[in-house]
Amino acid sequence: MALQIYISGKFYDKADAKISVYDHGLLYGDGVFEGMRSYSGTIFRLKEHLERLYESARAICLTIPISIEVMEKAVYETLQKNSLIDAYIRLVITRGAGSLGLDPNKTSDPQVIIIADSISLYPEEFYDKGLKIITASTVRSHPAALSPRVKSLNYLNNIMAKIEGLQAGCVEALMLNHKGEVAECTGDNIFIVKRGVVMTPPKDAGILEGITRNAILDLCKEHGIVAFEQTMTRHDLYVADECFLTGSAAEVIPVVTIDSRPIGSGSVGPITKKLSDAFKKLVHSK
Ligand code: PMP
Repeated sequence: MALQIYISGKFYDKADAKISVYDHGLLYGDGVFEGMRSYSGTIFRLKEHLERLYESARAICLTIPISIEVMEKAVYETLQKNSLIDAYIRLVITRGAGSLGLDPNKTSDPQVIIIADSISLYPEEFYDKGLKIITASTVRSHPAALSPRVKSLNYLNNIMAKIEGLQAGCVEALMLNHKGEVAECTGDNIFIVKRGVVMTPPKDAGILEGITRNAILDLCKEHGIVAFEQTMTRHDLYVADECFLTGSAAEVIPVVTIDSRPIGSGSVGPITKKLSDAFKKLVHSK
C-alpha cells in the first residue's frame, strides 16, 4: 500500500497528497513545521514538539485549526495507518490558500499535513568518525527580522548556509549570529566540551531551542556532567576538546573538524560518546 499522508483530517496516497498552489505556505513560506521521531512506536518528547509547534504558530499569528489533543491523536493515527514504529514524522501547518498578495487575512483554511516516513540523515560512518564542518558566511537571521526560535516554513536562511557547507564538501555548516557569536548549525544545535564541562549557546543566541538539545542538558544532569548555556565565539570551538551536534533527525553526531581545524584530538571524544550512548538508551526506553 502507498504511504498514507494526512492532510486536514483525511488520508491520501503519497502521489495524491496535494495542496493548492495558492497556499501561502508555498507562495511565501508562511507556515510552521515540526520534525520528530518515533522509536518503537513512541514519539520522543511529542508534547514538547507540539508545544513548540503551537508556540511557533502563535508567534506568526497563525491559528492551528485543531487542538493539541486532536493533533496528538492524528500523529499516532498516521503512524498506525502506515504500520510504522520507527519513523521520522514531519508536521506542517500552512497559512492556507489565499490571494496572490501577502495579506494573511485573505487566506482561509490553514492546512495540517502529517507525513510519517523513514529517514536517515547522515551515513553511519559520520556517527563513527565524526563530521567535518565549516563556518558559513551567511549569519542566522536577526531575531528582530524573523526569530530563529520560530520553526517557520521560511528556511532559506539555513538553506543558504547549507549550500555553503555543501560547496565546501561538508554536510553541515556552523552559523554565527549577527553579533558574530556561535548560534547553531543549519538544522542542528551545537555543543562543545571543554575540560569535562559541556556548553551550548543560550536560547537568545539566535537558535531554535532544540528538543534534542534539551534532552542532552537533562542527560548531563542525570550523569553528573556539568553543563550550561554559554555565549561563545569561534575561538571557543577551535580550542574545545570535543564538539557534537544534536537534532531530532541527526540525533547526536560528533564533529571532528571545524574550518579544517581538528577539534581536540580530531576524533570522537569520550563525553560525546557517553552522551550519544545515553541518548540512544533514553529514546529506546518507554
Ligand atoms: N536548529 C535548527 C535550525 C533546526 O532546524 C533543528 C531541527 N532540525 C534543530 C536546531 C534541532 O532541533 P530538535 O532537536 O528539536 O530537532
